[in-house]
Amino acid sequence: MTLVSDIEKFAVHDGPGIRTVVFLKGCPLACRWCHNPESQSFAAELYYDDAKCMRCRRCAAVCPRKCHAFGENGHHFDRTWCLHCGRCTTVCPVNALEMVGREMTIPQVLEEVLADQVFYDHSGGGLTLSGGEPLAHFDFTRELLSAAKNAKLHTCVETSGFAPWEHVEPLLPLVDLWLWDIKAPPELHERLIGVPDDLILENLHRLDVAGGRTVLRCPLIPGLNDSEAALLFIAELANSLKHLTRIDLEPYHPLGESKNARLGKERFFHAPFVPETTKTNWQEFLMRHTHIEVHI
Ligand code: SF4
Ligand code: SF4
Ligand code: SF4
Repeated sequence: MTLVSDIEKFAVHDGPGIRTVVFLKGCPLACRWCHNPESQSFAAELYYDDAKCMRCRRCAAVCPRKCHAFGENGHHFDRTWCLHCGRCTTVCPVNALEMVGREMTIPQVLEEVLADQVFYDHSGGGLTLSGGEPLAHFDFTRELLSAAKNAKLHTCVETSGFAPWEHVEPLLPLVDLWLWDIKAPPELHERLIGVPDDLILENLHRLDVAGGRTVLRCPLIPGLNDSEAALLFIAELANSLKHLTRIDLEPYHPLGESKNARLGKERFFHAPFVPETTKTNWQEFLMRHTHIEVHI
């Protein structure tokens, strides 16, 4: 059993064909621009949307920890002593409060995934495990992938690669395609992400030597990690991999920022949508320096 933050159906950007993406909750990294901040913590959390709240006070009536208070300034939700029991979410009539994180078993997840098997069969799709960080849920990830393979599903794992090799190697026969994040060149990585990239790159090269098929997924934020040197690093890395199938550029978008507000987290990063010309320049630059397909 593990905590699942979301299951997204009919996804078309996380591997080939139509896919179901299972987001596992918990990641050892805390990227400043993370689009899925609700997947960073390994614990259940609560979304609270003040704009939806109609001040009915039902949440206050059921909360055992007195987390909900009402006064002149409206509804004050203090999460300090929250147990994540979920009682307030079940009485809220407008879904202003929602639990993030469902404990699920392998059969429960597999049942939801297999419900769409007909779409996978027609499109060449399947299951994508994402997060958070699937490799940080190693036992669950291995068992789920194994069950998916028994059901003849195509499988992808989206990963930061920040995990011991012992959590990558046993998955090799179970993963058809790895969606491998490359976030910054070595000289910037520790400053931006908080950890050096040695382990991530070492795992990627070992995976490639072992025959693992990969897509590089590169989040790009203008002015932060899109210098010519940073793009050249991506191109040279791509050129060094035998089993890389393509590069996906992932321009920053601010849609994840509202999630931080609903989680009660400070907004610690903001950048605007990336102009189309900038995206095209990135793509053209990379296409001049590598023979690998580059997608945006
Ligand atoms: S590795 Fe991915 S899920 Fe984890 S914090 Fe970074 S962007 Fe978010
Ligand atoms: S989840 Fe439970 S403890 Fe937390 S605010 Fe709601 S009712 Fe209170
Ligand atoms: S139950 Fe929902 S709508 Fe009512 S006060 Fe609490 S958060 Fe607001």
